[in-house]
Amino acid sequence: MGIKNSIREIKKQVPKGIEIIAATKKRTTEEIMQALKAGISVIGENYVQEAEEKFSLLGKKARFHLIGHLQTNKAKKAVSIFDMIQTVDSEKLAMEIDKQCSKIKKLMPVLIEVNIGKEKNKSGCLPEDVERIAHKISTLKNLRLRGIMAMAPYFRSPEKARPYFRKARQLFDRLKSAYHLDILSMGMSGSYKIAVEEGATMVRIGTAIFGNR
Ligand SMILES: *Cc1c(COP(=O)(O)O)cnc(C)c1O
Repeated sequence: MGIKNSIREIKKQVPKGIEIIAATKKRTTEEIMQALKAGISVIGENYVQEAEEKFSLLGKKARFHLIGHLQTNKAKKAVSIFDMIQTVDSEKLAMEIDKQCSKIKKLMPVLIEVNIGKEKNKSGCLPEDVERIAHKISTLKNLRLRGIMAMAPYFRSPEKARPYFRKARQLFDRLKSAYHLDILSMGMSGSYKIAVEEGATMVRIGTAIFGNR
């Protein structure tokens, strides 16, 4: 269908006010440029090194969000590239990001990544850890907690993900007023319509924009 038309179709399905971010792992800067021309302004990258290469080519043309797991030893590089880190999943990582941000005097917006289905081998904290990590982040000067990023289990039939999105929404609602949260990032190519119905404010879409990886 082409990148431009795909984005147009997705925009029809997603109410205004919900941010569509393009998940751009393994995509070329040419593909990303097409998405930016079609009205995408935020790209989600999974790997620090890959993002660094794209950042050197795209710079301020896009806002960069980290949507992949961050190792503490990559935090220094990550804070210099990303406009938001969506994958804070431990107090230790939050503290390291804070430390690196303080060195370059940057206030970093962050989301707490939740492994909402408690799947083994998936990153993200457990739902019961979110509140503790939220509290920790609220004590760190260089981090600004904006919300939650939920990873739901993958199902061929996206309707099955609905209870997980609902659970993420309930977690979000519970912390929302205490921490002034405004972002609930959930839903991918197969599941974004369900995620939006369940209260997502941001969806992360790769395949439905760019085709198969
Ligand atoms: C790849 C990826 C997406 C997008 O997945 P698609 O199914 O290609 O839309 C969203 N979120 C994260 C964290 C990803 O790694």
